Amino acid sequence: MILIEQMQQELQELEAKSNLRKLPGILHEGRDVIVNGQRMLNLSSNDYLGLANDIELRRDFLETLTPETFLPTSSSSRLLTGNFTACEQLEQQLATAFGTEAALVFNSGYHANTGILPAVSNARTLILADKLVHASLIDGIRLSAAKSIRYRHNQYDQLERLIEINHTEYERIIIVTESIFSMDGDEADLRELVRLKKKYANVWLYVDEAHAFGVRGDKGLGCAEEQECISDIDFLVGTFGKALASAGAYIVCRKVIREYLVNKMRTFIFTTALPPVIIQWTSFVFTRLPNFRQRREKLQLVSSKLKETLEHKGYVCPSSSHIIPMITGESSIAVRKAEELQRKGFYALPVRPPTVPEGTSRIRFSLTAEISEEEIVRLTT
Ligand SMILES: *Cc1c(COP(=O)(O)O)cnc(C)c1O
Repeated sequence: MILIEQMQQELQELEAKSNLRKLPGILHEGRDVIVNGQRMLNLSSNDYLGLANDIELRRDFLETLTPETFLPTSSSSRLLTGNFTACEQLEQQLATAFGTEAALVFNSGYHANTGILPAVSNARTLILADKLVHASLIDGIRLSAAKSIRYRHNQYDQLERLIEINHTEYERIIIVTESIFSMDGDEADLRELVRLKKKYANVWLYVDEAHAFGVRGDKGLGCAEEQECISDIDFLVGTFGKALASAGAYIVCRKVIREYLVNKMRTFIFTTALPPVIIQWTSFVFTRLPNFRQRREKLQLVSSKLKETLEHKGYVCPSSSHIIPMITGESSIAVRKAEELQRKGFYALPVRPPTVPEGTSRIRFSLTAEISEEEIVRLTT
C-alpha cells in the first residue's frame, strides 16, 4: 500500500511540474494525425522522407508478396531457426552499399545500442561519450563493465585531453557519439573524431546515425557518407524506424566485429529475430534509397527555412538538420506553445526533463519532406 502511495505521489509531482507523460490517443491519416478530434499536420514523427506514407511504395511492395512468402514472424532467435535468407541478404546489401566487410541487423536501435557496447567492452575499457547521446547509448554504457566519462557536447578539445590522460591506463577507449543529435538537431564532426582516434592505436569510434540514415549523403547512407569517413568508423550504427519507414537497426563493420557480436551480444542472442516481412520491406526501401535525393533536398530546404525564421524571432537554434528545437526554457511555456501550435493545425510536441536538461524545455520540430514552404511560414506566424 505504501509503495502505491509513493507512486501516486511521484506522479502528482511530475504533473505539478508539467512533466507528466501520457499516451496520446491518435489516428493517422496520411501526413496528418487526428488527436482529440482535431486534424493536424504531424511534425513529431521521424518519417523524415515521407516514405511511411507513400501508398505507391507500399503497393509495389505488396505485389512482391504471396500468402506463401508473407512471413509475419521468424519464430526464433537468429542463432536457432530465425536466420531467414532475407536477413542475410539485407546484411549483404548493407555491406555492399557502405563498402564495408560486413553488416549485422538488430531488432531496434535500442537493442543495438544496449547490446553492442556491453559486448565489446570490459573492465579495462574506457567509454568516452558525448554528454547528449541518446538514452539507449547511456543504457548500453550502464550495462557494460567499462568505466565511462561523458565529455561536454561536441567539445573535442576536452575529449582529446581525456584520451591523452587515459589511453595508457586502459586496454581500449571507445568514443561514442551520434551524428545528428536527437534533441538539438546539431551534428558531430565525424572527420575530426576520426582524426583524433587515429592518433592512438587503442581508440575506437562508435557513431549512431539514427537521425541521419536515409537523410544525409548522396546515396542516403548518412553523415559518414557525407563526410566520406565510413571506413574509418569502427561501429557505424543506424536504424530503420525513422527515415527508412520500417523497423530495426544495423551495424556496418569489420567481419571480425560482426562475428564477435553474434557470439557476445545479449540483445542479439536472446531475442526473437525481426519478422522476415519487415526485413523484406526494409530491403525493398533500402534498394530505392539513392532515388530519394529530391526528398532529401526538399527536407534540407524547409529545415533551413524554419531555422532562419526561428532565429529571426530571437530563438537560439543550435540545429543544422531537420530536427529543429524551439527552446522555451520552462516546461509550462513549452506546453502552452505546443497547445497554440496544435490549435493552428500543427502537431508539435513539448520535450521536457528528463529527456532534455532542466531549464531547456522546448518544442521539437521533426520535419518531413512532405511539408510545404508555405506551411513553414504559417507555422511560425
Ligand atoms: C530513435 C533512436 C534510437 C532507437 O532506435 P529504435 O529503433 O527506435 O529503437 C537510437 N539512437 C538514437 C540516436 C535514436 O534517435
